[in-house]
Amino acid sequence: MSIFVTGATGALGSIVIRQLLRTVPGDQITAVVRNVEKASSLTALGVEVRHGDYADPASLVKAFEGAGKLLFISSPDTDDTLRIVQHANVVKAARDAGVRHLLYTSFAYAEESVIPLAHVHLATEHAIRTTNIPYTFLRNSLYTEVFVNPGLSASLAHGALVTNTGSGRVNTAFRSDLAAAAAAVLTSDGHENKTYNLVSDTTWSYDELAALIAEITGKPFTHQAVSYDEQAKILSAAGLPEPVVHLVAGINQAVAEGETSRTSQDLKNLIGELTPLRSAVEDILKGSE
Ligand code: NAP
Repeated sequence: MSIFVTGATGALGSIVIRQLLRTVPGDQITAVVRNVEKASSLTALGVEVRHGDYADPASLVKAFEGAGKLLFISSPDTDDTLRIVQHANVVKAARDAGVRHLLYTSFAYAEESVIPLAHVHLATEHAIRTTNIPYTFLRNSLYTEVFVNPGLSASLAHGALVTNTGSGRVNTAFRSDLAAAAAAVLTSDGHENKTYNLVSDTTWSYDELAALIAEITGKPFTHQAVSYDEQAKILSAAGLPEPVVHLVAGINQAVAEGETSRTSQDLKNLIGELTPLRSAVEDILKGSE
């Protein structure tokens, strides 16, 4: 069955395409992108590139023509109401174009989440159910890279991580592992009408992350727990825009309250061993040498 991937110029989508190319010929893969010029590296890989903009329903119906399995990667727009409109455009276009199996990158344990963006994902899952297209909900965890990224270098210099996560447990997965799971579902059978919570089988805390950094660097390093308001003040002072300040502090607060403490075997069952947290920490430390 032909495989189509939206958001293929993005971080997740581009890894999915590369993962697929390990087992699927390029001429069976179509990348749907809003900016065709940005997709020249995909064309060079032998993948067909088509224009499809989540804000332009007609472009989507045309782009999805002939799609067997479609991996719909959620929009990165920060306006959640607009995101729901964009997602409805994609879902209706998939129906009108006759897509045979629709995979969607949703959000882990969306019904129980207190993070506002969960509404977007639940609304989209419900929209997909109205089409009667066989679906697979790939309910991605928060990316490890959201928490452990080069932005930590200031904390490394300071000798402490300051967060309002308290002693909350964090369940994250690397983009590359989530991309591998999407590719696994796209290239194997038996995933129709299934919902996978693609979280790790283990969790970590900021105290443990700080201890790991101390162990790898051989230097004292700690986690300092602060309140939501203190966290917001620190992030504002670091120059982050207000919506981002509240998104970050809000996610941390949800972590503190147990939102990301659950584990599942779903991701491991699809791809085998998961990338360990240590590898993200080592990459950052290498980059900051
Ligand atoms: P990303 O790098 O920002 O990629 C988003 C993709 O969506 C890009 O290819 C982008 O195209 C495309 N796109 C944006 N607006 C579009 C439109 N109007 N029509 C068609 N395509 C459009 O994000 P990512 O890291 O790959 O993550 C994939 C998605 O997961 C994000 O979009 C977001 O919904 C969600 N997300 C999840 C987490 C998490 O922790 N689980 C974190 C961040 C985001 P361009 O290349 O042209 O910009």
